[in-house]
Amino acid sequence: MARLGKLLLLPGDGIGPEVMAEVKKLLGWLAEHEGTTFAVEEDLVGGAALDAHGSPIADSTMEKAKAADAVIFGAVGATKHDANPFHLKPEQGLLRLRKDLGLFANLRPAMVFPALADASSLKPDLVDGLDILILRELTGGVYFGEPRGIEDLGDGRKRAIDTQVYTTTEIERIARVAFELSKKRAGRVTSVEKANVMHTGILWREVVTRVGRDEFPEVELSHMYADNCAMQLIRRPKQFDVIVTDNLFGDLLSDAAAMATGSLGMLPSASLGALGGGGRRKSLFEPVHGSAPDIAGQGKANPLAMLLSFAMALRYAFDQGGLADRVEAAIASVLDRGWRTPDIMQPGKRAATTAQMGDAVLAELG
Ligand code: NAD
Repeated sequence: MARLGKLLLLPGDGIGPEVMAEVKKLLGWLAEHEGTTFAVEEDLVGGAALDAHGSPIADSTMEKAKAADAVIFGAVGATKHDANPFHLKPEQGLLRLRKDLGLFANLRPAMVFPALADASSLKPDLVDGLDILILRELTGGVYFGEPRGIEDLGDGRKRAIDTQVYTTTEIERIARVAFELSKKRAGRVTSVEKANVMHTGILWREVVTRVGRDEFPEVELSHMYADNCAMQLIRRPKQFDVIVTDNLFGDLLSDAAAMATGSLGMLPSASLGALGGGGRRKSLFEPVHGSAPDIAGQGKANPLAMLLSFAMALRYAFDQGGLADRVEAAIASVLDRGWRTPDIMQPGKRAATTAQMGDAVLAELG
């Protein structure tokens, strides 16, 4: 048996535990059929943690997260906690994980399985087989830069300030992640900023160019202004492999790219931190969707975003690209065979519950 490392499962709230149940089945399958195991722990986060001990994530859970090679996260958010003060909202559990694990790189793939090309808001031939990765800087830029705030000008008017700020170090580390990731893909990086009108854009371009030239000469690097990138994502999305960009532009461009894929229930994500001992990065893998209280407990949740997030963990946290490819291929086959949860249902296709979809993926894996 090959034990790959330590996993912390945090199912969270709403449909989180339902989709995490399908990851647990996959873990069972990997142990039984591949002899691949993990040291697995599970704990509470979000509303579930608030209910148990009054905090959206306990210090003991944070310790487990720091000790893990990868955190597999479901979703947080529960209507009963909506009126809580800010620091007691379920979402604070996720924010603390991101902050305390130093997760500065957010990976949002936009993949379109051929069977779902019709579900995209773009023409099927533009997105059929799409496989791009948007890498967003997550802990710097205009969402954190100082000074920030709203000041009273004293004459009935106010003035609001946000500051876009990036240091060489912040740009270097996200650039390195982009180049490294591209080597596991098609080997092309598009760096996106607005060097035409922003000083942070000028520094961004300068630093990414230097890191690429000095450390990753084998990767093909190009540059694009963010407004043009937004257009190109809608016009011809398949031209990209890895897009690396700052926090603000990444927020917008990853959501735009997501729409090409059709459904929230199909979108995985990963967040990576600094390189630690043994050459591994701290990492957290989670579906893009939330806790979906409107469908929780009804067996309607699509587990594929969660399973695809776990496939990202296999690829990026444990260097098991082959296994990740097989999980993704099994998902593509299940969709080809017509299995659909309600969110991706199309006329004439086979209705599946959350558990049936998970079972179909395992059956496809063999
Ligand atoms: P949501 O993503 O939970 O749901 C939006 C819509 O998409 C809903 O109609 C839902 O039924 C559907 N949906 C989402 N995931 C699905 C899946 N796997 N299968 C089928 N349908 C799916 O977003 P929301 O409704 O804005 O927020 C609900 C709660 O989740 C809130 O408390 C919010 O704060 C929280 N939230 C958490 C995260 C996170 O944990 N990372 C992200 C977004 C929202």
